[in-house]
Parts: sequence; C-alpha cells; structure tokens
Amino acid sequence: MQIGSARLTLEAGDITEQHVDAIVNAANTTLLGGGGVDGAIHRRGGPAILEACTQIVARQGGCPTGEAVITTGGRLPARFVIHTVGPVWSGGQRGEDDLLAAAYRNSLRLAAEHGLTTIAFPSISTGAYRFPIERAAGIALGTTAAFLRGRGHPIVEARFVLFTDYDLAVYHRALERVAGEERR
Ligand code: ADP
Repeated sequence: MQIGSARLTLEAGDITEQHVDAIVNAANTTLLGGGGVDGAIHRRGGPAILEACTQIVARQGGCPTGEAVITTGGRLPARFVIHTVGPVWSGGQRGEDDLLAAAYRNSLRLAAEHGLTTIAFPSISTGAYRFPIERAAGIALGTTAAFLRGRGHPIVEARFVLFTDYDLAVYHRALERVAGEERR
C-alpha cells in the first residue's frame, strides 16, 4: 500500500535475510538475547550485535517495554538492527495495546532520526509474548500507516516480514482494514 511517499508492504520470509537499512528485533528488556526472532538475529548477525547491546546496557541498563535502541547489523545484510521490546500479553487490561503501538512508533522514529529509508519488521509480541495476532496486526499496521502519513521522515518502505503463511494472511486482512480507513 502506498502512503504518501512511502510503501507499506507485507511478505512471508525470514527477517534476517532482508536487504534493508534496518531490521527490527523483537527483543526483551535485558537486550542480552533470547529465543525466537531475537535468537535468529544474533546467530546470523554475529557477536558485534551483542557487544553493542552490552554497551547500551552498561549505559542505560536495558530497554523498557515500548522503547527502542539501535545497533550495528553485524554480518546481517541489514546495516542496522533496531531492538524494540513489545509487551507480554496478559489479558489486554495492562496497556498492552499502547505499549505495542509505542514499540512500532519508537522504532520508526529511531530509523527516521538516523536517516534510514527502508525498514523491516517482524510480528512483535505475537510469539513467546502471546499477543493475539489479529489484534497485534491491526495495531502494527495502523501505527505504521499513521507514522508514514506524517511529513518530514525519510522512510520509503516499511516492510512486514511474516514467518508463516498463516501470519501473512492475518496481516493481509488487517492491511485491508487499514487501507479502508486510509481511503476515508
Ligand atoms: P515476542 O517475544 O515479541 O513474541 P518472538 O520472537 O517469540 O517475539 O516472536 C515474534 C514473531 O516472530 C513470531 O510470529 C515468530 O513466528 C516470528 N519469527 C521467528 N523467527 C523469525 C524470523 N527469523 N523472521 C521473521 N519472523 C520470525
């Protein structure tokens, strides 16, 4: 979908293989690595990413939920990794929606501050953190579309890379809804 001068795209694939300025990591507050997409990024990107995370931890003691930090991409095709922390789902009454939106918004803001033009996201919080994917997809795409609609950012492509065809189908349906709202 085209939004202003940027494209919002969906595809199935592996985030670690994306040739973009920055890929986003679904990290945890320690920034010291975990399973899922986090484990895959550190494995594929090599030790330089963990070294950079360790320096950030020494400086600011981790990354609060909803915020984001940026490091080298190490050996990844992407130049940078933006590490953000999505909320753990605990029923929906603990600010999970707002925290998930903040994770996307702060990642996009950090990319823009660094003059990056292409960014790829995984489906944050919908793995180990158990955020219901239909709801997460609406927040992910709605927040990203709102950011792209804003002026004064350099981003030309925000790509969502879904790990399964099922996840891709859920995001496709959510994108239809967001596109409907964009037309209004
Ligand atoms: P969280 O802890 O934020 O839930 P997870 O890493 O457990 O993060 O899962 C987030 C999503 O990332 C899940 O949908 C999972 O299937 C997906 N995922 C796992 N590995 C990859 C990968 N290499 N590329 C893209 N998505 C991935």
